This record gives sequence, structure tokens and C-alpha cells, in this order.
Amino acid sequence: MNSKNSVSIIGCGISGIFAALELKKAGIENVQLFDKSRGVGGRLATRRANDGKFDHGIQYIKIDSLLERQEIRTLIDNKTLAETEEPGIFIGLDGMTNIAKFLTKDLNVKKEFKLLAINEINGSLEMNFENNEKILTDSIILSSPIKQSLEIIEKSNINYNKIHLESLESLEYYLAIILMIESAAPLDLDKKFYQENPEGPISFIADNFKKNVSKKQNFYTLICSPKFSAINFEKDYASINLMLEDNLKHIFGPKYEILSNHKWRYSIPKNFYTEGDSINIGTNNFIGLCGDIFTNGRFDGAINSGISIASKYLKNEI
Ligand SMILES: Cc1cc2nc3c(=O)[nH]c(=O)nc-3n(C[C@H](O)[C@H](O)[C@H](O)COP(=O)(O)OP(=O)(O)OC[C@H]3O[C@@H](n4cnc5c(N)ncnc54)[C@H](O)[C@@H]3O)c2cc1C
Repeated sequence: MNSKNSVSIIGCGISGIFAALELKKAGIENVQLFDKSRGVGGRLATRRANDGKFDHGIQYIKIDSLLERQEIRTLIDNKTLAETEEPGIFIGLDGMTNIAKFLTKDLNVKKEFKLLAINEINGSLEMNFENNEKILTDSIILSSPIKQSLEIIEKSNINYNKIHLESLESLEYYLAIILMIESAAPLDLDKKFYQENPEGPISFIADNFKKNVSKKQNFYTLICSPKFSAINFEKDYASINLMLEDNLKHIFGPKYEILSNHKWRYSIPKNFYTEGDSINIGTNNFIGLCGDIFTNGRFDGAINSGISIASKYLKNEI
């Protein structure tokens, strides 16, 4: 990649995607996104199993403040994003990942590129990836969860402003264990397609069929409570599922099958950065940080953080 005026965005979640879209809109040509995963979207995550589908990350979207944005209008017009029967609540039709897939179709994305460290060399930034690739860039935006961004910075040899480090280091996320279940019979959930359970080990249940994610019926995503997830996060899935057996029988009766599990080390933020919607810490080169933890820990906030860091780059805020 030509390093002249190039911007590299680490993380292809919704904040990184919006940072890239804003920069492209402003005429910045050389924008490249990198993600460690095999797919795009980050916590906009959908998984197939047994001819059905589950959203196993973000569950629903509230975007009142963003409804006038052209990208959101386009997503609604082409039926990638759809309002549910519950006014103001949106979902990704056929799965949340489709939102990220649609938005990145004209962007330059490199998948399976996990950034390990950055080295400042003769005014440029050399990015060192786990797959042994080294790529030069002028500017970097880290949109990975802040803990992962700080790990990268710690291993890097770059000039940056350390004054914000203490408040960034204090930021934390809840752990979340997810179960993806096919049940023999449908559940009667108290909202249109989901139910919140503030008590007990399972805090949230969503019906992926009623949500228009799964074409197959009785596909449920279960999110374990922050307390249960924290206590059991390091255990293997077989032990976790066994511990939940009584709860699951109570919810589904005897006939259900756990088709898949997932663990989110960084699910939703516990606390937030309060000094701005994003931050540039670079002193020689632009090294921006963005993501949901800089705003409200949700989809709309992650978008606003991505837009915020792009605007800081465009204003050349070093
Ligand atoms: C279970 C769950 C339920 C949720 N429910 C809701 C909800 O109902 N409504 C709502 O609004 N929000 C919800 N959220 C939160 C929402 O998903 C997030 O706010 C939003 O998706 C965050 O986007 P982001 O771009 O900041 O981060 P992410 O989506 O986490 O994107 C960061 C990206 O960085 C990549 N990455 C990390 N490290 C590296 C590296 N070293 N090199 C390269 N790439 C890297 C990751 O692979 C990832 O793709 C939920 C989250 C979870 C996990």
C-alpha cells in the first residue's frame, strides 16, 4: 500500500466502518480497514447452524438520532435494516452481520489481519500483523475494544500523549456467555421477539425467527447475566451448559438442543470515556481511538464515535 496520506483503520465493527465511510466521503482515497476475524461486523455477529441463524452479538438497534443519515436511509431502503413491530426498534434482516457486509461492499477490507504492534519509522507508522505482514501507513485509527487497543499501544514504539492513559486504562466491559438453542416448541416471550430477565443466570432471550433472522422456527439466542458470565467465563462450554440445564428445562421443557455457544470478552461497556466521543493520542502521526466505549456502549454510539474520529482526522487534530 502506498503510505502517502494513507489511513489504516483497525477493526471492522460499526465504529471503524463509519470512520472509513466518513473519510471516503470527504475525499480521502487511501483508506484501508483491517480486521483480525474472518468476517466483518465485530459485535454485529450472526451465525448459521442446522439451516437456521442466530444473532449472537447485538440484539436490536435504536437509531432515532441517526434516521436522517444517508447510510441509514440506504440500509432501510434496501431492506438490510428494518423496523420491527415495536416502533423505534430496528434489526438487521437475515442477521445483523448483513449491515456490516452491505456498508463495507465498496471499502477496502483486509480480513484475518490482527494488528500486534506499531513502530514509528522515518515519519511513517509500520503496522506489524500476526500473519507476519508489515504495512506502512501515515495514520491509524484503532476501533478495537479499548483493552485490545491499549495492548497494541503497549507493545508499540510510537510517540503519543500519555495524559489520557489513566482514564482509558480504567475502562471495562462486561463478559457475556451466549447460548444458541433450537427448541422443539415455540416460547411465549413477553416482548414481540425478546424477553429480559433481570433475575437469574439468563438475562435475555431473543427469538431469531420472529426477528426475521432465521428462516427456521424456534431458534433462540440466550445471553447469560453479567454475574453468571463473570463467574463461569473461563469454564468450557460443556460445563457451562450443564450448569444451566435446570434453567433451560424450565424455559424450554425437555426438548431443546444447544447448537452453539460463544463468549464475548468485551460485550457491553461497564463504564465510559467521558472526555469526548473519540480521541487522537498521536503526537507525530495521527493515532485515533474510537468505539462504543467513547459514547453510550451501543450501535448508535459506536457510529457517532466513528464519525467523531474521522472528523478529528479531517481537522488534522494532532
Ligand atoms: C451480546 C451483546 C449484545 C448486545 N446488544 C446490543 C443491543 O441490543 N443494542 C445495541 O445498540 N448494542 C448492543 N450491543 C453492543 C454493540 O454490539 C456495540 O456497541 C457495537 O457493535 C460496538 O461496535 P464497535 O465498532 O465499537 O466495536 P466492535 O464491534 O467490537 O468492533 C471492533 C473490531 O475490532 C476487531 N479487532 C480487535 N482487535 C483487533 C486487532 N488487534 N487487529 C485487527 N482487528 C481487531 C474485532 O475483530 C472487531 O471486529 C451488544 C453487544 C453484545 C456483545
